[in-house]
Amino acid sequence: MKKNNFDLIIIGGSAVATASGIYASRRKINFCVLTDSWGGEVVNSGEIDNYPGFIQTNGLKLSQTFKDQLKFNHVDLREGVKVESIKKREDIFYIKTNQGGYTSRTILLGTGVHPKLLNAENEKEFRNKGVSYCSTCDGPLFRNKVVAIIGGGNSALESALMLSDIAEKIYLLTIHKKLKGETIYIEKINQDPKVTIIYQADTKGFLGDKVLAGLEYVDKKTIITKKLFVQGVFVHIGVVPNSSLAPKEVERNNFGEIITNKLGETSLKGFFSAGDVTDIPFKQIAIATGQATIAVLKAIQYLDKI
Ligand SMILES: Cc1cc2nc3c(=O)[nH]c(=O)nc-3n(C[C@H](O)[C@H](O)[C@H](O)COP(=O)(O)OP(=O)(O)OC[C@H]3O[C@@H](n4cnc5c(N)ncnc54)[C@H](O)[C@@H]3O)c2cc1C
Repeated sequence: MKKNNFDLIIIGGSAVATASGIYASRRKINFCVLTDSWGGEVVNSGEIDNYPGFIQTNGLKLSQTFKDQLKFNHVDLREGVKVESIKKREDIFYIKTNQGGYTSRTILLGTGVHPKLLNAENEKEFRNKGVSYCSTCDGPLFRNKVVAIIGGGNSALESALMLSDIAEKIYLLTIHKKLKGETIYIEKINQDPKVTIIYQADTKGFLGDKVLAGLEYVDKKTIITKKLFVQGVFVHIGVVPNSSLAPKEVERNNFGEIITNKLGETSLKGFFSAGDVTDIPFKQIAIATGQATIAVLKAIQYLDKI
């Protein structure tokens, strides 16, 4: 039977887990990494041109390199382990998972985020039948098709640029009066002949019989309900932090993000966190790995003291 009591358990299978796993292994800590699956949002990141050390890479390659780096450092990585809840009693954390229980003296949570739903009519019915939340994963299914992207931030803009190489036509629907992402993306989108931007469009529901045929939105300028006939829709309207598994004593902000100080400590002693699941304002791989490095070093210092 596999060992299940540790001094440190890192939860997550992506940027945070890699950076913290490397440091913990080099310090010979009694630890493991638990993740439901490997890759996280890194694997969905498409082209990555802003991670130091790599002039150009992509999410698939980088997440494989991350995994190889953990393997190289002999990290005990346990995939397929979904953590359901964590409770602390008398300085020990009790972790309930789909694969049995674990105990640990410290936790480093790097569980990232999941996409926010639009809560539009028929959204659940058409999920994976035309409605997707991941352009990198599902984009190639829409070659030469007409698609819509809902959202006006970086994820939506990156999705539009990626789909521009694949789809025949792209409608970008934003509820706002202007796009909100990085200028470089906005400039590219504005010059892309395949992309039509529809401003102040409030998507209300999805249309079709078994497979998606289109969507319905309210044009907020005229308050007229309009239909758009598309074969695919990509929803990129924000994310929800995967923080519900943390003990109730761990403070979250109004968005559900875990509040950490600059050392990765939370309001609960021995419970550390890093990356997209935290209240750090910018969600990027370099930030997640940097934050994770600080948090794991602080966790090791904490272990040394107790
Ligand atoms: C479309 C897109 C494009 C992006 N492009 C870039 C870019 O170009 N450059 C850049 O720097 N950043 C980019 N990002 C952001 C970047 O992907 C994130 O900042 C980074 O992945 C955060 O890493 P993380 O380790 O905090 O979380 P994640 O990568 O989200 O990983 C979380 C991990 O935790 C696991 N997990 C979650 N819940 C549980 C649970 N209950 N039990 C066990 N395991 C669990 C998940 O399976 C996953 O492995 C992009 C993101 C998206 C969505």
